[in-house]
Formats: sequence, structure tokens, C-alpha cells
Amino acid sequence: MIIAIDGPAGVGKSTVAKLLAARLGWLYLDTGALYRAVAWKTLQSNILPTDREQVVRLLPSTSLHMQFQNGAVQVLVDGIDVTGELRAPDVTTAASVVSAIPGVREWLLPIQRQIGQRGSVVAEGRDIGTRVFPAAPYKFFLDADANIRVERRHRELVAAGRGETIEVTHQDLSDRDLRDRTRPIDPLVPAPDARSIDTSTLSPEQVVELMISTMSTGL
Ligand code: C5P
Repeated sequence: MIIAIDGPAGVGKSTVAKLLAARLGWLYLDTGALYRAVAWKTLQSNILPTDREQVVRLLPSTSLHMQFQNGAVQVLVDGIDVTGELRAPDVTTAASVVSAIPGVREWLLPIQRQIGQRGSVVAEGRDIGTRVFPAAPYKFFLDADANIRVERRHRELVAAGRGETIEVTHQDLSDRDLRDRTRPIDPLVPAPDARSIDTSTLSPEQVVELMISTMSTGL
């Protein structure tokens, strides 16, 4: 069983997906972490994220695993636990760039689908309902006012000790959104059968309630 949650950065996807997964006792699949892991390996290998050929050439010799333990998720690249490094600003930007490379998306597709076979999963990303799990019975597309998304992301970064100015957060979010929405392969678009939710004025708990009531009454 899969619940697919897509939407732009800063919309509250991760918080909501984690809450929903905990509530249902399902696995939480953060697909962004997989793109971030590819970005981490790219930077570690001193390859520019824009160098599509070199990035794709890295993949066959890369091993990528997600481990789920007591509700926590660990990401291992070539056996190294890189979980704590995936949210660094340089990795965030590189993830957004490498995610537009068709070879990277193709490589990550079976990895995501295999994780989906480990049990019931709440999967979150940009193309879950359109590409990774198009047959998911429940699909949600979250969106929110751009300024609210910037504020939310900025608060999260400050809480994580990564104090940058709100202008920098704004620019970063707009750049990433534009890349996600305009890339030729698997752009960020709602699946035709997704239920859209505007989270601008809703708390994560309210979004989860809305999802649960939508699922219990059918989409
Ligand atoms: O969700 P998160 O911000 O961690 O994702 C990092 C980057 O990975 C995003 O900026 C997006 O470009 C990319 N991504 C993607 N498809 C997904 C998940 C993430 O292209 N399913």
C-alpha cells in the first residue's frame, strides 16, 4: 500500500508525511534524501553537479541504501552513513541540479520502487504520484503560498542552526522550484488523480486529519 505525497519545497511535505507514517505505523520514504545522497557523492568525488556525463558515470559504482530503524531513517552511500550531511546547503543545491539529469532519475527509480515493496509506505517527493508510484491508491499534492513556504523553510533552517538570511532562503526556494517545475523529465506537476491541499493556513496535524478523512471517504 502506498500513499504518494508531492509538492514544492517548504510546503510541509516531510513533516506531514512523517506524522502520517507514524500515525499509520507505515514506513516513511523521503525520496529527496536519495537525490541528496547522489548529490553528496557527486560533491565528494569533486564532480560539478552540472557535469551530467560525469555524474551519471559515478552511478554504477555507487551503492545506496536506506535503513529504517525505530522510526528513524539512515541513508548509506557506499556503506557510509551520510544522513547528517544531506541537509547541508551545498548538498541541497547540488541535489536540485542533479535531479534534472535523466540518468540520475532512471537510476533512482528502481531503488525507490524496491523500498516501496518493503511494506506499506508513505512516500514523499516531486514525482511520486506521476512517476514512481503512478498506481498508488492515495495521492496528495500539497501547495502553499510562496511567502509562507519561504518563512517555514527559513524557520526550519534557523532551528537546525543554519542561520541564513530570509532573502537567501527565498532565492534558494525559487531557484529550486523553477528547476523542479520546468525540467523536461518528471517535472513537479500534480498527478491528474491527486487530491490538492493548500497548506498555507493549516497546521501539519490538520493536513494529516484532512488526508485521513479523504482516504476514509475515498478521493
Ligand atoms: O525534498 P527535498 O528538498 O529533500 O529534495 C531535494 C531535491 O531533490 C529537490 O530540490 C528536488 O529537485 C529533488 N527531488 C526530485 N524528485 C523527488 C524528490 C526530490 O526531483 N521525488
